[in-house]
Amino acid sequence: MKRLIIILITLYWLSVSGLADDPYLSRRKLMVDRHIAARGISDESVLKAMRKVPRHLMVSREFRSQAYADHPLPIGESQTISQPYVVALMTEALQLKPGDRVLEIGTGSGYQAAVLAEIVSEVYSIEIRKNLADSARKILTKLGYHNVEVKYGDGYYGWEAHAPFDAIIITAAANHIPPSLIKQLKDGGTLILPLGSTVYYQMLTLVTKKNEQITIRQMGSVRFVPMMGEVRKKK
Ligand code: SAH
Repeated sequence: MKRLIIILITLYWLSVSGLADDPYLSRRKLMVDRHIAARGISDESVLKAMRKVPRHLMVSREFRSQAYADHPLPIGESQTISQPYVVALMTEALQLKPGDRVLEIGTGSGYQAAVLAEIVSEVYSIEIRKNLADSARKILTKLGYHNVEVKYGDGYYGWEAHAPFDAIIITAAANHIPPSLIKQLKDGGTLILPLGSTVYYQMLTLVTKKNEQITIRQMGSVRFVPMMGEVRKKK
């Protein structure tokens, strides 16, 4: 009898935790070992988050089997979910702490937001395409990420109501850094974005704000879909 109860409790826990029906768990772990840890990402909180977030549930159904390969994938509306290694690289560069409040521009599938939500206490994410904002909000809620808030709108002006942020991540290419985002960054905070031509390649750029001074570090070239809206009218 006692044994039966233990078995029933274990089965219940497995179904509630989603582990029982996650055939992708081993692929996800392999992806992190092979494409992320092996390529120099060492922040344990980033590795742990990426071993956990079900990327296959955040891509279109027909691409599910490719969800743990190290390349970008379509998420609808001609947009893409970033390559896992780039998600890891950008997240690690922000040097996040558990109590941090982070702003993301370009929610897309919600994958990057979920990775952030595993690491920090508050995530705010803005998406300019309504369909993507709605579906990301839905999947994030379904997966239990109650510490993420998704807003439909242009991220160019940031999210004043929740500022200042410890970190800001822009996941679409821009040819300049939106001034409001610099303003909404805490002193000592960091911002990362693909900066440069929105047609070809961009330079992954890490911006640090300290005593009203901006320091810039370039981290290699990347290719992102262009940031839309106000950013294209300025400069
Ligand atoms: N971080 C996403 C992938 C981003 S793809 C993920 O994890 O899936 C880039 C996204 O930025 C697209 O969804 C695009 O619609 C959005 N975007 C482009 N310009 C934007 C803007 N000005 N404000 C907010 N979102 C924007």
